[in-house]
Parts: sequence; structure tokens; C-alpha cells
Amino acid sequence: MKPFDYARATDRTDATAQAANNATFIAGGTNLLDLMKLEVMTPYRLVDINRLDLSEISATDDGGLRIGALVTNSDCAADKRIRSDYPVLSRAILAGASGQLRNKATTGGNLCQRTRCYYFYDTAMPCNKREPGSGCQALEGFNRIHAILGASEACIATYPGDMAVAMTALDAQIEIENSAGDIRHVPIQEFHLLPDDHPEKDNILGAGDLITAVILPPPVDAKQIYQKVRDRASYAFALCSIAAIIKMVDGKIEKAALAFGGLAHKPWRDEAVEDLLIGQSPSSQLFGQAADQLLAEAKGYGSNDFKIPLTRRVLISVLKEATQTGADA
Ligand code: SF4
Repeated sequence: MKPFDYARATDRTDATAQAANNATFIAGGTNLLDLMKLEVMTPYRLVDINRLDLSEISATDDGGLRIGALVTNSDCAADKRIRSDYPVLSRAILAGASGQLRNKATTGGNLCQRTRCYYFYDTAMPCNKREPGSGCQALEGFNRIHAILGASEACIATYPGDMAVAMTALDAQIEIENSAGDIRHVPIQEFHLLPDDHPEKDNILGAGDLITAVILPPPVDAKQIYQKVRDRASYAFALCSIAAIIKMVDGKIEKAALAFGGLAHKPWRDEAVEDLLIGQSPSSQLFGQAADQLLAEAKGYGSNDFKIPLTRRVLISVLKEATQTGADA
């Protein structure tokens, strides 16, 4: 590991001021420390934000929830309000990592975790995300876990998380404070970036930007499902995951919010798929059309070709389950 400076932030103003000089925040460190040990990331200075007052989950005025950036994944998944009103989020978090990691990992850090592309972690290999302009070994290499949607010739990596996929289906907003003390709210769909020509940039955060919270809108009375397909039953990243929020009224789909993990450089949402479903009666034909729409531009790179038929099957299965009347999934 390369030597680095360490400083503990006393409050948000101190944290964002210290990080404005391209220092790196550390909270749980569950991904960052691995990256530092491998010298994939070599921050010159770490700003420890663990003592900031960002560990609360509180109600918002409009009936939603505000999840502080330092709320651990374990506490978030176990929160009674989240389990009852946002079960898709609780289930997504519990589908990720291990108990030990969830005890350390934080809400803000989880959003910022980096891809698990094998070549990104191997400093002997070319990787445009780690070293812009060096090339992408995954394009011609082993790309079983890589993207089938939204990739570019510069990078075909996937965003690896589960929590953010559920938050995307829930239309969460990310609260960000900058070094001038300004606070902005960004829809989670705009937070993570597609690779395009700059895969080194995972999200919209700039120097000194600090995630302070995730805001969930008021809950909706709808069935919520998180389905994750992976190579092992636990402690594995998604090959394909789906967060689904479906409301049925009089036998028709009134609301459909679908977010996908393991398929793209960011949690993937396709409004055309949702528009196709809304107002319709569930049927195998309709679900097939939804899968066709989702996968119309899908592209495999060899080892990950299987993800296209896999995603089709998982989507159809989730839609069948979500549109069944009866007890929640
Ligand atoms: Fe690097 Fe992206 Fe290519 Fe993986 S897919 S080697 S992260 S550029």
C-alpha cells in the first residue's frame, strides 16, 4: 500500500473543505481499503468521516424517509420502517455482501463502491477505468460478469451493488453537500454514469462533494420484489438482479417501477418497459414484449452472452410473481 495522510473530520464543513483538495473520504472502507492494498486507488490523503452526525434514519415532512449517509447497511436493512414500507430495499441490502461487511458498509459508501471487473483490480492489465487510455482487457477477455446494456468501447464494466438498484426503483434522491456548504438533491438515476469515453468517472461527485443522505419518497401501496441471480447462494455479486414495484388495480398494472442490477455501468431503468406494462392486463405475451423492449439493444461480449436470455427469464418470472394477486412476495 502506498503511504497516505490521514485526518479525522470534525464536522461536515471540515470534511468537505479537507476533501476539496482531491482527498478521499473514508467511512466503512469495505471497498476502498481493498483497492488501496492492491494500489488500484492511491489517495494521498484520507478524510475519515465516521464521526459526522449522519447516522440517523428519520421521517421527512412528506412521509418519506431520510437515510443518513453513515447508516450502516445492517441498520438500514433492519429498520422497521424500511422493512414494512420499503421491503425491496431491505431485501436488496440483505442480498449483498456478508453480515460482517454489512455491519461496516455505509449507505453513502455503498453508492460509491466500484466495479468488480477482474482487470480493474489487476494492475498488470490494461484498464481504461483505472488508467484512462490504456485499453480494456475485458473486451477480448473473460467478461462473464460484464455489461450487456449501456456499455461503450472504452469499458464494459458493471456497477456491482444491490442497494442502489432498489433505491433506483424507489426513485430515491441523493443529498450532496459541497465545500461551499451548498446542498443539492440528485435523482439516483442521474447519480451513477454510463462509461462512454470516461469510464474512470463512476458518478457525478466532484472534489469535496459529500453524500449526506438518501431520501426515499413516501411509500406506495404496491408489491415489492428483489430478485437476484448469482453464481453462489450468498456473498456474490449479481449476474442479473431486478427490483420491482408493481401495483395492480382491477386486474391491470397501475404502477410499474423496474430497476436492474448486474447489467450495466449503473443501476438500469428503462421507462419504455414500464410504459409498455402500465394499464395492461398481465399475460405471458405482455411480459415477453417487456423483455423484448428491455433487451432490444443488449449486446454480449462472449462470456457474458448468457446474460441476455437469463435476464429475459428473470424479468418474466418477476413480472409473473409481482402481478399475482394475494400476499406480498
Ligand atoms: Fe477496465 Fe472497464 Fe475494461 Fe474492466 S471493463 S478492464 S473496468 S475498462
